Amino acid sequence: MRRDDLIQHTSAPPLLEIRDLSLDFGTPRGRVRALRNVSLDVPAAQVVGIVGESGSGKSTLAYTVMGLLSENADVTSGSILFEGKDLLKIPARARRSLLGDRLSMVFQDPMTALNPVRTIENQMIDIQHHGQGSRSEKRARAVDMLHRVGIPDPKNRLGAYPHQFSGGMRQRVCIAMALLVKPALLVADEPTTALDATLEVQIIHLLKDLQTEIGCSILFVSHHLGAVAELCDRVAVMYAGEVVEQGAVRDIFHNPAHPYTRALLECDPGRIKKSTRTLPTIPGEVPSLLGSTKGCIFRTRCPQAFNRCVQEDPVEYRIGVDQVARCHLLGDERLVPA
Ligand code: SF4
Repeated sequence: MRRDDLIQHTSAPPLLEIRDLSLDFGTPRGRVRALRNVSLDVPAAQVVGIVGESGSGKSTLAYTVMGLLSENADVTSGSILFEGKDLLKIPARARRSLLGDRLSMVFQDPMTALNPVRTIENQMIDIQHHGQGSRSEKRARAVDMLHRVGIPDPKNRLGAYPHQFSGGMRQRVCIAMALLVKPALLVADEPTTALDATLEVQIIHLLKDLQTEIGCSILFVSHHLGAVAELCDRVAVMYAGEVVEQGAVRDIFHNPAHPYTRALLECDPGRIKKSTRTLPTIPGEVPSLLGSTKGCIFRTRCPQAFNRCVQEDPVEYRIGVDQVARCHLLGDERLVPA
């Protein structure tokens, strides 16, 4: 049974369906194959995490979904179905009208995401331009949302400028703005990376509470496995532009099938039981994505690589009910290609 068939049998159509998505960046040195054959679903009202090292393509994927790519980006194949419409095929105007309405985003750096010369009030009213109601009604909704994200004294703080908030409070403002429009899908690109550990926990809990309340889906990009375990229902592990493993969070974290997922988990400080002065790392570096590649993309760093890994691209194998991974080692008689 193919993975698509499996999804059809086990759940309603996903809110977001990414299929065989490939994207290159044109550079003076050649084409960088930043995403290769990425397939991923975000079911309605679920939180899907994307994890991987820097350079794995997770933020590129998030920006591709939002249509916020630089001019040298070129989607070479695939589709991004959102509420049944292919975002890569609809007219630019229709796609833009989804932003700040059905699709919303929280960026990594709240200072650059907010306009520094406009008050929070003006920015929170502007973001509701799709919505009904007078300016005073939109203002009241903004105050209410600031209160819900934990901004003290929101009525008075509404008139402040972004630089008058701390980093954690600015990110709360950004989350308030993103959720004010009640999106169907919130894309959150490393929203806690710029925050300290205490604030990170608070923001994760806040996102979880608001997601449950609003009923939206979240595509949550992070390199922090603990945050993903806390917040997400499903997770996709990306390496060098490919999804190498994906499934339910409990399956991936308790029974990782791909050597890269296992290596990532072994390097997670939250899972290291013994006290140590040196944190483990994955030996080697993410390979260059210039030009085409043959064989498994992880082969230069994989401790279990063998001849076939150099010659053939691994296909996706299904493990259990709801987990798939790309590795030749999984291709024995007990498992079938997904
Ligand atoms: Fe390692 Fe080969 Fe599996 Fe790639 S296909 S992860 S190189 S064993």
